[in-house]
Amino acid sequence: QYLLAIETSCDETAVAIIKNERELVANVVASQIESHKRFGGVVPEIASRHHIEQITVTLEEALTEAGLTLDDMDAIGVTEGPGLVGALLVGVNAAKGLAFAKHKPLVGVHHIAGHIYASRLEKEFEFPLLALVVSGGHTELVLMKGHNDFEVIGETRDDAAGEAYDKVARLLRLPYPGGPEIDRLAAQGEAVIDFPRAWLEEDSYDFSFSGLKSAVINKLHNASQKGEEFKPEDVAASFQESVVDVLSTKTKKAATAYEVNQVVVAGGVAANKGLRQALTETFKDTDIDLLIPPLNLCTDNAAMIATAGAVAYKQGHRAAWDLNAHPGLDLEEYGKRGSL
Ligand code: ATP
Ligand code: MG
Ligand code: FE
Repeated sequence: QYLLAIETSCDETAVAIIKNERELVANVVASQIESHKRFGGVVPEIASRHHIEQITVTLEEALTEAGLTLDDMDAIGVTEGPGLVGALLVGVNAAKGLAFAKHKPLVGVHHIAGHIYASRLEKEFEFPLLALVVSGGHTELVLMKGHNDFEVIGETRDDAAGEAYDKVARLLRLPYPGGPEIDRLAAQGEAVIDFPRAWLEEDSYDFSFSGLKSAVINKLHNASQKGEEFKPEDVAASFQESVVDVLSTKTKKAATAYEVNQVVVAGGVAANKGLRQALTETFKDTDIDLLIPPLNLCTDNAAMIATAGAVAYKQGHRAAWDLNAHPGLDLEEYGKRGSL
């Protein structure tokens, strides 16, 4: 059984084909990073235009890579949200066109469900499972007791982890996207600056990163007024240590409290070396299984949408022909959807 999936929620145009839920047979990602770099972030209008230009070639490339045709597909999946509305619409309309023309069922997929399911390409899920979602727009702890069953037990009250990385990178005048740049610098520096950790209330699994961002701004500002200077490497290492400390500590606490079998790390920040190392260390001597996707499946791709879409397809989820983009699609609601 084959499912072809399209992802256009942000700045990568991606198409992937999955066989029997977990076997990746094609995975093509056309990144627009170069076009957004000079603006220091994703420009929605530019993103939409690029998706329109790239979608057909990306689709053809995926089919060629798999050695299959659209007729071989059993279903078409697409990211319907959350994300940039204009960007999402390109994928949604392309998927609708393909499904309609080829008489294939259409499945709408939640982008964050996709990020979580990226790990299932490596290893079968064992529930209950706790997902640490750390991406450009989301930071959440999600408890899963079964497939497509999502309970958000904690989330950020302000900035997402990836957003904090990108903002601090801008302060350090690093190019966009800043996450990988800070990660690279952090490895060369030492965590000599004591930045705050937002633990919040004792029993809370929520996060907060805006205070940390302000602390970085203040530290750099005060130092420059005194004519002192911190090495960017040390700022990066100290910032990263604070982020990683909070993320790994709260994940461990929740994983223990909910007695999960697996912890799944999801989203672009899952590519972070410091976080990968800290979590590996944290769960090393426990009987909790830690799943972290390979680097290319951490940031946006369609393989994750295909594998999540295949689960939704199996559960009977079908989108109607009036499927629209849903920029604010809720994860828990998405999981509770019945078949049409
Ligand atoms: P969302 O998934 O919430 O809709 P998004 O799709 O824009 O947001 P992703 O593509 O999942 O986000 O992740 C991109 C984010 O990951 C960016 O903020 C980027 O800086 C960050 N990121 C990527 N690699 C690393 C890294 N090695 N270390 C830290 N952050 C990273
Ligand atoms: Mg991206
Ligand atoms: Fe994403």
